[in-house]
Amino acid sequence: MSKIVKKVKERLRDFRRPGYYKEFEYNWTMVIDLDKCNGCEACVVACHAENNLPIVGKDECSKSRAFNWIRIERYVEGEFPNVKVKFIPIMCQHCNSAPCELGCPVYATYHNQDGLNVQVYNRCVGTFTCATYCPYDVRRFNWFTYKWPEPLDQQLNPDVTVREMGVMEKCTFCIQRIRVAKDRAKDENRKVRDGEVVPACVQSCPTGALVFGDRNDPKSRVAKLAKSPRRFRLLEGLNTDPSVIYLKRVMKKSGSKKHGEHG
Ligand code: SF4
Repeated sequence: MSKIVKKVKERLRDFRRPGYYKEFEYNWTMVIDLDKCNGCEACVVACHAENNLPIVGKDECSKSRAFNWIRIERYVEGEFPNVKVKFIPIMCQHCNSAPCELGCPVYATYHNQDGLNVQVYNRCVGTFTCATYCPYDVRRFNWFTYKWPEPLDQQLNPDVTVREMGVMEKCTFCIQRIRVAKDRAKDENRKVRDGEVVPACVQSCPTGALVFGDRNDPKSRVAKLAKSPRRFRLLEGLNTDPSVIYLKRVMKKSGSKKHGEHG
């Protein structure tokens, strides 16, 4: 058996062991309450500003090269004027059993000890395999070395690398903010407190639909919300074990005075 196949099998065995990530210090998790999301896309704009994402324009978007780390999917039910619209924010699901990690031939994408799916830009050779393997369509490829016209170049975030042509990227849960909080906690000889790490999308959401935190801490908001009877995860049947947990939208069923649940 080749060394690489052996290594992959070892990794698979570890990742699929129940509770593997509970053994680590943190297990970063995002909970998204679909009952609160109104589709305003403030999270999308905040993500662009925080993570130096280019605005690629209409032509590139029409070639399926839209460049968002988080997108808001819209679902419309019924006929006008009796329509119901539902929104689902979708970003990298940071799967604990991530298909993209198995696909990358150079281990540019891997799992770190906080349960995050990490992308090493310097190692990426642009084979596109991870994006092909990802069932959530959340990875974005730099077809060009994008430029920011003056004075927009002044607003680039110095804490985040500006990526170049040929590199794959996706949501990092604002790892730069996690790093700052962890360093501060280390200096003060304590663990990161609940609510101390606030990714840009969470910070900007006007309705508080997004909650971020450490699921290993049983007192954290995400740990409590993750037990909600409304919880579900995207494409759960694929056994990718995502770290993004959704809470179903609660809507009044037509013709009923009671409230019913809709996904
Ligand atoms: S900012 Fe909040 S309410 Fe607006 S689209 Fe994003 S998650 Fe939904």
